[in-house]
Amino acid sequence: MSVLTVKPSFPNHLMVETLIQQLQAGHHLAVMLDYDGTLTPIVSRPEEAQLDTEGLQTLVDLATHPQIRLALISGRSVEQLQGFIHSILPQPILLAGLHGGQVWDALNNQCLAEPDENLVNLKAQFLQDVYNHILTKYGELPQGITFEEKGYSFALHYRLADETTGLDVHQIFQNAFDLDAIVHNAFRIQAGHSVIEIVPKPFNKGEGVRFCVDYWQKQDPKARLFPVFAGDDKTDEVGLKATLALGGAGIAVGVDPQEMLALKHEEQEALWVLKDPAEMQSVLKALVQALPSIENASNALSPLLEERARERGGS
Ligand SMILES: [Mg+2]
Repeated sequence: MSVLTVKPSFPNHLMVETLIQQLQAGHHLAVMLDYDGTLTPIVSRPEEAQLDTEGLQTLVDLATHPQIRLALISGRSVEQLQGFIHSILPQPILLAGLHGGQVWDALNNQCLAEPDENLVNLKAQFLQDVYNHILTKYGELPQGITFEEKGYSFALHYRLADETTGLDVHQIFQNAFDLDAIVHNAFRIQAGHSVIEIVPKPFNKGEGVRFCVDYWQKQDPKARLFPVFAGDDKTDEVGLKATLALGGAGIAVGVDPQEMLALKHEEQEALWVLKDPAEMQSVLKALVQALPSIENASNALSPLLEERARERGGS
């Protein structure tokens, strides 16, 4: 896919204005963001996808606004997401890892959704199986091939490998999966930018979106939520679909919606498009800058958030 040729279909200032209008109408924004490729640029080494201080501050400013709920919904594990944002914790943010299969409430340090433990053993056996197949063929792990452990799933990255080797190990992974009936039953294959992984079947970002929105709605039954989900990858298509079905807005980052094949034509047309994670950051920052103009007495900060605001001011 050609990231640089994507033209914004919905001008960024209109995007921010629409979100502000939702807040002015008394709605709560349920902001759900994918991480890699959406908030941070895709990097060769997944562990280096770190948000800068400004990006982290934007998350804090969004999360602490009384009319905004914030979640990160990622294919990464909750532990990895915690690592990326640990410097700002605790904050009222939901971290939905493993495509929504594992959800953690960062303010209350509480796990809200945890998958079946047996999947961990099954996954470990399959990882060993794929690893052995690669060793049988190459004698050692080829350069640029890395395994990423995610507890209930694992990913094989080949962005740093040469193209032929990358496609070959992708196929080895796929073949091992196709031949393993037990793994086949419990997991599905998820492929993204130079990455292939197995994910427990119930885990997908559509479920992640619905889980977060349900959770916030239960916390505040009277709130009128306007869901917004942003993503860049194949794995985000079901998240965008779910968000549109809930009457919210979907944002495609750095990807042509017409390439999002899980979406119907009218769903592709409904998406807002941003060029890259830098544009995503600038939209979020513009939203944060506009927030004081819509604040009023009914939006007064809760005592807990007020305390956090004071701490931030004093640090
Ligand atoms: Mg992504």
